[in-house]
Amino acid sequence: MLITHDTECALSILVDLLNTAPEVCGDERLPDVAALDAFVVRQEISEIDSLTEDDLRRVHDLRTRLREVFGTESTAEAADLVNAIVTAAGTTPRLVNHDHHDWHIHYFAPHAALGDHLAAELGMALTFILMAGERERLRRCEAPDCARVFVDLSRNRSRRYCDSRTCGNRLHVAAYRARQRSAETVASA
Ligand SMILES: [Zn+2]
Ligand SMILES: [Zn+2]
Repeated sequence: MLITHDTECALSILVDLLNTAPEVCGDERLPDVAALDAFVVRQEISEIDSLTEDDLRRVHDLRTRLREVFGTESTAEAADLVNAIVTAAGTTPRLVNHDHHDWHIHYFAPHAALGDHLAAELGMALTFILMAGERERLRRCEAPDCARVFVDLSRNRSRRYCDSRTCGNRLHVAAYRARQRSAETVASA
């Protein structure tokens, strides 16, 4: 699969963003500008000026639109969604090196608003996934009560659950506890 390190980084920001939604966590993980600011710092998103309520609203909006790409049935359907997202952002590819990073491309316009910045960068990362014929790697977790998304970068596309700290692990723990319980029942019988 021809996915570059930069695309992988963008995909990890994408997954982090999508999994902040209230329908995923039960509560909104980006409830205010301060939380959005913390997200920008955590993901080391560059060239962001101070954030406003408007930025927050636009990022919530974008999050909903990006999430739809994870539920598509065909590349054509996904391409329509991604093209609309990227077009609205107005990408201006630039070759840059900054901070401790080597030369890489910024798709967002210089000092673009956060919503446009993310739409350009995350939209292009999805473009590369679709171009590589890898739409099926854009997954929704199969754990029964989980609405998280993830990108399956495993060699054989075999991942079924989101991040192992949560679901894979939770299911293992549940199975382990069930085994413990039945062992205890046997021991106390
Ligand atoms: Zn950069
Ligand atoms: Zn999950």
